[in-house]
Amino acid sequence: MRKNIVAGNWKMNKDMAQTDLLIADLKNQEQTSNAEVMIAPTFTNLHQSFNALEDSKIEVIAQNMHFAESGAYTGEISASMLKGVGVKTVILGHSERRAYFNETDELLAKKVDAALANDMRVIFCFGEELADRKSDNHEAVVKNQITNALFHLEAPALKNIVLAYEPVWAIGTGETASPEQAQEMHQYIRETLVNRYDEATANSISILYGGSVKPANAKEIFSKPDVDGGLIGGAALKAEDFYAIVNAF
Ligand code: PEP
Repeated sequence: MRKNIVAGNWKMNKDMAQTDLLIADLKNQEQTSNAEVMIAPTFTNLHQSFNALEDSKIEVIAQNMHFAESGAYTGEISASMLKGVGVKTVILGHSERRAYFNETDELLAKKVDAALANDMRVIFCFGEELADRKSDNHEAVVKNQITNALFHLEAPALKNIVLAYEPVWAIGTGETASPEQAQEMHQYIRETLVNRYDEATANSISILYGGSVKPANAKEIFSKPDVDGGLIGGAALKAEDFYAIVNAF
C-alpha cells in the first residue's frame, strides 16, 4: 500500500537557534491526517533535530549525500555518516542539485545505489523545465530521468523509493502545476512504472508532487488519485503552513 507523505525541504535555511524554534513550533501543531511527516534540515542541524524530535513522529531526513562510502571528496557526506546520526531517508536529485551542482541522472543512479545499499529510503526528485513543457516534451523528459536513474533497479528495491515529481518551473516561483497537470503527470509516471515493472509495484510507490504547494492549494492537489503527498519548500519553513498542508489529506 502506498503511503501519504508530506516532506519539508528546508534547503539552506535556518541556523541552529532557528532550527530549535521551528521544531518547537512544529511540535505544537496538531496532526489530523494520516500522512507520514518528514523534515529535511541542513546537514549541520540534523543531530540537534533528532534530539529535539526524539519523542515525535516527525522523521528527520537529509537533503543530499555522496555516492562513495568514504574518501577524498572534500565537503561531501556519505550514507554511513548520515546513518550515524540517525537518518533513514535521503532526498536525491532535487532540481537545485541538478541545476547548480551539475548532478546528472548517471551520478544520481550511483547515489541511489549507495543509499539503497545502506538500507536507506530515497525520495527521488525529477521534473521538466518550462521549455520542455512548452514544447510538449515534458513526459519524455520525465521518463528519461526516471529510466536513467532508477530503472536499473529490480522491483523489490523500489519499496525504498519514493518519487517526487517537481516541475522546475513551479519550484519556489509561486506558480503551481494545476491539480489536473499534476494528476496527468503522476498517472503517466505510474503507467511508466507498470510498463517497466508491474501493476503491483507501480501501485505501491508513493508519488509526491512538489512546486509551490501552499495551504491554499494542497487540498485540491492531494485529492487527485495519483498524488500521494508533497515535497514542500517555502511553506515548510512556517509550522502553521506546513501542518495546514500535512492536514490537507
Ligand atoms: C522544493 O524545493 O522541493 C519545492 C517544492 O519548493 P517550493 O515549495 O518552495 O516550490
